[in-house]
Amino acid sequence: MSDPRWLDWAGLEKSDPKVAEAILGEVNRENTKIELIASENFSSPAVLAALGTPLTNKYAEGYPGKRYYGGCEYVDVVEEIAIERAKQIFGAEHANVQSHSGASANAAAYFAFVKPGDTILGMALAMGGHLTHGHFASFSGQLFNAISYGVSEDTELIDYDEIRDKAKKERPKLLIAGASAYPRKWDFAALRDIAKDVGAIFLVDAAHFIGLVAGGAHDNPVEYADVVTATTHKTLRGPRGAMILCKEEHAAAIDKSVFPGWQGGPMMHSIASKAVAFGEAQTDDFKVYAHQTVTNAQVMAETLTSEGLRIVSGGTDNHLMLVDLRPVGVTGKVAEARLDDVGITVNKNAIPYDPEKPFVASGIRVGTPAITTCGMKEEETRQVATLIATVLKDDSDETKKRVSAEVKELTSRFRPYPEVR
Ligand code: PLP
Repeated sequence: MSDPRWLDWAGLEKSDPKVAEAILGEVNRENTKIELIASENFSSPAVLAALGTPLTNKYAEGYPGKRYYGGCEYVDVVEEIAIERAKQIFGAEHANVQSHSGASANAAAYFAFVKPGDTILGMALAMGGHLTHGHFASFSGQLFNAISYGVSEDTELIDYDEIRDKAKKERPKLLIAGASAYPRKWDFAALRDIAKDVGAIFLVDAAHFIGLVAGGAHDNPVEYADVVTATTHKTLRGPRGAMILCKEEHAAAIDKSVFPGWQGGPMMHSIASKAVAFGEAQTDDFKVYAHQTVTNAQVMAETLTSEGLRIVSGGTDNHLMLVDLRPVGVTGKVAEARLDDVGITVNKNAIPYDPEKPFVASGIRVGTPAITTCGMKEEETRQVATLIATVLKDDSDETKKRVSAEVKELTSRFRPYPEVR
């Protein structure tokens, strides 16, 4: 095998030192902070190697064997591998691996079934759903008659009776499950039955938990849904991008909606990288990773609770939790900044029925995919949770200094990449 000579880091540093410096700065940041943003993860060197290849040069509009460009014999191989692996991992009849992002996968998947003005029913952003599930700021709220469901105020769990009632009344053409900030299991069977009763297509946006599904640590929505969209860069630990899984009967509509409906040429370097990530997701190591991610989230939730914080819905069944900060008297905005100061990265997040504005928020969202990739287990997760609670309760310089030192020590042992400087 010949040397990948195009990966010329020294050349980049020489020809564009400003960009090279910023890239190294980011790698250094990833290596030296504790990453708890639930939608982020660290891709392996193999996934990164596939991304940085001349496959970025290739136009390949169409699908393997049916392209609008010549010279596609190698990219066809790559895309076929990605498709086959995705189908195998999730037991899907059909996989489209060309979506550039979760938002564009959702757009393509919706438009395979509904048209502007049709009614769609998804989880409200303020309750944990994603912008693309019908929020007015996104195409989904602007083009469709979007109605939403949420969680019940007392249990903070999805209220399936509410969904059933709304679906019966509004007769949506599309029922969307999935969220960006919902820590609990989904009753996919109940939602499938509701969709069936009202004649809706049932779509699960599995962007967040798809890696847990791959590793056997989460129910598989493919068994219930007409179509599943998913990002490849969150728990699945691949490159930034997405895919769509569906039943064979919807394959042609989905493929047509992705290209030429919503996208032009596929990013073949990214598809190669997705194929590598899918290969990694098929290993026993990945199963261990997925289960450990959930265990770590549960340990994090228990420890934060014992430190006096409130976990929305009382815990988590997946890789993330929402922490209600009101018991310690800080807002999400303040907490995010304070934690960043000591090297712990989280995002502020509205909690259900939040009295604060979204930009301030009463909560933070905490996820364990990235720290688990770095090798942290229960003991380190407990330590991280204690550090979070310590800084949230006491922002004295002395405390912040002590916590920063512990963060430094932890990240010297648990970091994603070799040291860059
Ligand atoms: N769907 C869900 C549930 C998400 O959480 C996200 C992103 O966070 C998306 C879709 C959009 O993905 P992307 O940022 O790749 O467009």
